Amino acid sequence: MSMNRQGRQTQPNEKSDGSQTQSTHSGNRGLQIEEPLLFELGDTTTTGVDLPKLPDSDHDNATRFGDLARSEPIGLAGLSEPETMRHYVRLSQKNYSIDTGIYPLGSCTMKHNPRLNEKMARLPGMMDIHPLQPQSTVPGAIELMEELAHWLMELTNMQAIALSPKAGAHGELCGMMAIKAAHEHAGDSHRNIVLVPDSAHGTNPATAALIGYKVRSVPAQSDGTVTAASVKEALDENVAAIMLTNPNTGGVFEREIVEIAELIHEAGAYFYCDGANFNAIAGKVRPGDLGVDAMHFNLHKTFSTPHGGGGPGSGPVVLSRRLAPFAPYPFLQREGETAKLVENSADHAGDDHHPFGRMTAFHGQWGMYTRALTYMRSHGVDGLRQASEDAVLNANYVRACLSGHMSLAFGEDHICMHEVLFDDAFLKGTGVTTLDFAKAMIDEGFHPMTVYFPLIVHGAMLVEPTESESKASLDQFIHVMIALTKQAKEGQSEHFSSAPVFTPRGRLDETGAARKPILRWLPEKEMSTE
Ligand SMILES: *Cc1c(COP(=O)(O)O)cnc(C)c1O
Repeated sequence: MSMNRQGRQTQPNEKSDGSQTQSTHSGNRGLQIEEPLLFELGDTTTTGVDLPKLPDSDHDNATRFGDLARSEPIGLAGLSEPETMRHYVRLSQKNYSIDTGIYPLGSCTMKHNPRLNEKMARLPGMMDIHPLQPQSTVPGAIELMEELAHWLMELTNMQAIALSPKAGAHGELCGMMAIKAAHEHAGDSHRNIVLVPDSAHGTNPATAALIGYKVRSVPAQSDGTVTAASVKEALDENVAAIMLTNPNTGGVFEREIVEIAELIHEAGAYFYCDGANFNAIAGKVRPGDLGVDAMHFNLHKTFSTPHGGGGPGSGPVVLSRRLAPFAPYPFLQREGETAKLVENSADHAGDDHHPFGRMTAFHGQWGMYTRALTYMRSHGVDGLRQASEDAVLNANYVRACLSGHMSLAFGEDHICMHEVLFDDAFLKGTGVTTLDFAKAMIDEGFHPMTVYFPLIVHGAMLVEPTESESKASLDQFIHVMIALTKQAKEGQSEHFSSAPVFTPRGRLDETGAARKPILRWLPEKEMSTE
């Protein structure tokens, strides 16, 4: 494989044996332009603009910068505006996005982001406010936050909310810190164990461990669900909480959730629900009715807002009445006609709030609040319910059409919620792995589904189409999945092991990229010392 000195593969579409799959004189493939790095394009000794030379001062031959004068070239690639523009536009054209095609990443809820959301978030009154403005100058913004809070509490039947967490994992941390604060307040600080099913998203045990809890794993059944009996088995007087995802990461509703909540409460512990999969049940089920004490939303999943392309997340947490006093600053409080954000203890002296601290410097992801509330208001409660129903219907359509071709992790008759889980049993004996299958999908122009998660099934492939996809788009996806399945079963393993071949680069060393990332360009002479 040809590499530049920074370790970047320089030849497009090389096969693992070093041969080219298809070559052109330019390295370009039609409109897919082969694009070097900025530093390979530009010369560090030239600049895109010519400025007049600075006048030298008279004495000591020094410039007016004194000691700060640059002694060596700045080390940036000198490119003109059109060259720079082309570079970034070409890179942007290599992106895959929800606006390009179906993005079936399970657990991520990659749905269409209505342009109306963007229009609202970009209104000058929304976009140009500053977090340090006095509250009296932004009553509209506080009202918007209060309305969003109202919708989120209403949809879950919960009594308090912390809006500020900046993503799902941050929301988990917030909810678990509220639980810890509640135990400490009650003199129960000996409780040092958090129960987490082995089907959980990795952020759950990580959150518990980060704030000093020991994680006790609860085994999932073969369909990924957790039984009340296994929770009972794991419970003792040192358990502080359980963290449970519903529907779970296999796309299955936890049928014994009410019983589990009762057991947890009887044992003096709290029930944290990971709400990342709320898209399956919004408008249908209120987690507060199931006995949940704390749950985060991923506004960037359930309520659109652009994520996946690096857009910001937002992870508000709703809390039950018992946890409400421990909600962090800032929290919303009504004072007659107006709402205000309570920022510190001086603002609520003498009441029974015991905030555990604060999660963020300011108030959270304001732009995401605007987008999520726009999404909610344009759907209405009935529309949100229909979105959930359509998401579940779409996943089950995929499940039913692929049943008999690919292998369903929990059996042929198991109806799923918003995502459908396959394992790699259908690839047995073909020499094709889950990873190979996913790479072949890229050649077909599809973003692969989530692979190798959840860990409880072998070679997992988790497909979440969301409600955004039309039947036509699902049919196209299904057609390709069936065709690839046939190819694998016919023994064309070479087709898979060499994939992807139509992308600018073939298969990369993903482990190397994760473990030894080369994150910045170094001039040649620094390379040798690094
Ligand atoms: C996405 C997800 C998370 C983490 O949310 P982030 O917003 O990525 O931090 C946690 N749990 C589950 C089940 C998820 O799908």
